[in-house]
Amino acid sequence: MNDRHESLEPARTIVAGLRGLRATAPAHLAPEVLARVAPTDSYAALESPIGPLFVAYNAKGISAIGRGSDPEAFEEHFRERYGRRVRPASEAPGQLLDTVRRRLSGERDGELRFDLDALSEFERAVLRKALEIPRGEVRSYAWIAREIGRPRAVRAVGSALARNPIPLAIPCHRVVRSDGRIGEYAWGTATKRAVLTSEGLDPDQLEELARAGIHYLASSRDHVFCSTGCRYARRILPRNRVAFRSVEEAAAEGYRPCHHCRPAIPADHAA
Ligand SMILES: [Zn+2]
Repeated sequence: MNDRHESLEPARTIVAGLRGLRATAPAHLAPEVLARVAPTDSYAALESPIGPLFVAYNAKGISAIGRGSDPEAFEEHFRERYGRRVRPASEAPGQLLDTVRRRLSGERDGELRFDLDALSEFERAVLRKALEIPRGEVRSYAWIAREIGRPRAVRAVGSALARNPIPLAIPCHRVVRSDGRIGEYAWGTATKRAVLTSEGLDPDQLEELARAGIHYLASSRDHVFCSTGCRYARRILPRNRVAFRSVEEAAAEGYRPCHHCRPAIPADHAA
């Protein structure tokens, strides 16, 4: 806790200095300075389709989302993870919670900002990439690893997603195992399946395809192939549908990778 007190020192010095000068500091100055030196986090409760949540936020954006209805447990967990306190919001952050609520119900509007400062550069890259996966679709851990330029770091991608401090709003649930199984989730596989289903995906169907060794679907009309978690894969009419086990197989048949889900590069399902 010493570090935290030390980190507040510069702000205290500035505020004390202003007082010493008898300057009239604008009322908002101290909180703003403090927010820059050491963020002050507040939190509020939010109802969601998967039950009650807590949303913590500071001047930089949302810093954490926790599941449950026990505020003390959430505060404790937050303090353990970030080494700083989080306090109940003194007034309801209406717009922010509205935006989170809309986001969770599938609307795209409303920009959400996130405070990811406590994470490593790699973890931030993984989470930003997860943010690009549209609702109703999934990608693999290997896909994220490849897209952020770290194709071998598939396991590390899994760890970074498991530690996602802002689940749901940063959709780590849209990342599935490279073998096609839905895989782990910090809040349990059943919750992951439920959230994906609420987003319009059929986890059973995805796993059924994977069990049959099918990882890519293509349309014989346009000769473009998709990963099975791509929205365009679902739109292929049964009579045009062609299934592939691997990128190599699709390429050998003269099929081109979809620009939307970018399934290319062999070894995509190696992990
Ligand atoms: Zn696609």
